[in-house]
Amino acid sequence: MEQLIENKLIKADKAFSEWRKVPFEDRQKLIAKAAEILKNNSEKFGTIITQEMNKPISESIAEVEKCALMMNYYADAENILKPEKIESEFSYSEVHYVPKGVILGVMPWNFPFWQVLRFAVPAILAGNTVVLKHASICFGSGNAIEEVLLEAGFPEGIFQNLEVSHKEVKGILEHHTVKGVSLTGSGKAGGEVASIAGLNIKKSLLELGGSDAFIVLDDGDLDEAAKAGVKSRLQNCGQTCTAAKRFIIDEKIEDAFLPIFIEEYKKYEVGDPMDKETKIAGMARPDLADELEKQFQKALEYGAEIILPLERISENEFIPGLIRVQEGNPILQEELFGPLGMVMIAKNDEEALKMANDIPFGLSNSVWTKDQSRQLFFIENLESGTVNINRMTSSDPRFPFGGSKASGYGTELSLLALREFVTARTVVGN
Ligand code: NDP
Repeated sequence: MEQLIENKLIKADKAFSEWRKVPFEDRQKLIAKAAEILKNNSEKFGTIITQEMNKPISESIAEVEKCALMMNYYADAENILKPEKIESEFSYSEVHYVPKGVILGVMPWNFPFWQVLRFAVPAILAGNTVVLKHASICFGSGNAIEEVLLEAGFPEGIFQNLEVSHKEVKGILEHHTVKGVSLTGSGKAGGEVASIAGLNIKKSLLELGGSDAFIVLDDGDLDEAAKAGVKSRLQNCGQTCTAAKRFIIDEKIEDAFLPIFIEEYKKYEVGDPMDKETKIAGMARPDLADELEKQFQKALEYGAEIILPLERISENEFIPGLIRVQEGNPILQEELFGPLGMVMIAKNDEEALKMANDIPFGLSNSVWTKDQSRQLFFIENLESGTVNINRMTSSDPRFPFGGSKASGYGTELSLLALREFVTARTVVGN
């Protein structure tokens, strides 16, 4: 490992020995200050995001503002890490929540501020320090976040951006100072990083891909569902883990729903990412566009029918596509991380549920029906970390966020995230 990187790990570890003693409420004050800096400069930081990965500027600014919202949530959060007494015959019987130390974040490019801060803020509030390996196209975002936290008054070493390639993650995670890792990204990266963590007996948290179902039943609000479904599929140019990727439509409303849905889809015209009116721009990297094009061809080879063709208009831009896919098409087992949606038609609720669950992932499904018993049927039987009723997925700092099946493990957001990188230490005796 490069000496410069090792020095940063040692600095993070030294910072931890002081930071763990800082009261929870004092840490919260610094988080509130950082939130204010982000909110007041959302346009400046949004521009960095757009320049790095092409997200339409209005979405980049909204991302920065959402980070501030999340940080204010933690700045006001109840301290659930206070020692807890447990009734027993001993004079001491308590649980203490002890921070683990330096935690590594391996983060992706699709939400360059949100993914990093969503992980780092609760980890730091719990008393840990953080080192970041950001996606290689997002080092500018990583550095900007580090500067914001320093400007807010966080001591040096609490959060450091390491400008390293993914090949260096192994050495960093194996280093004796690093006590855990949180990764958001592909299943391949997640599996490799989690296996290194496992071999070194270090805690890992994984937030991986998804292929969420968006189920529209015959009594759902079709106009609202069409608008929300298209936004969910196409915002961030389709590069969202919790995007609606498979639209499972009740056959009774196929003819009523699809025309409205297609009309909404066509409203997403490719534009300049720096223009505030643009709803969709290019993908983050040309190789990701190549991959999506290959997946489109594969879907067609296995019998998918084109509703709207996926048309490549530059090295990273597409006119969004929509395909109708039958059960058994192997494309259904893959994540489509770009502006290409899949439509499936279900005969009844049982078939819709079976289609929704028949994938390796389990992140955040959405169901559109006004009938409470039908809602309950899907709430109880969908295999995913979140079930949305009559809304598209949009994570909220107050609610836990995390996947099941191949979408990963561990909890982000909410108070529960504060307990991810701590040891529950039992103190018992007389
Ligand atoms: P990756 O999973 O490869 O990248 C995410 C992060 O992991 C980056 O920081 C990357 O670094 C790092 N990384 C990659 N491979 C390893 C490894 N072997 N060991 C340690 N760290 C690693 O995503 P891609 O950018 O390649 O995107 C590919 C696909 O992943 C997408 O098409 C999508 O399906 C999925 N994805 C899912 C995301 C989600 O939100 N769940 C986010 C991003 C991607 P570096 O940039 O240096 O390679």
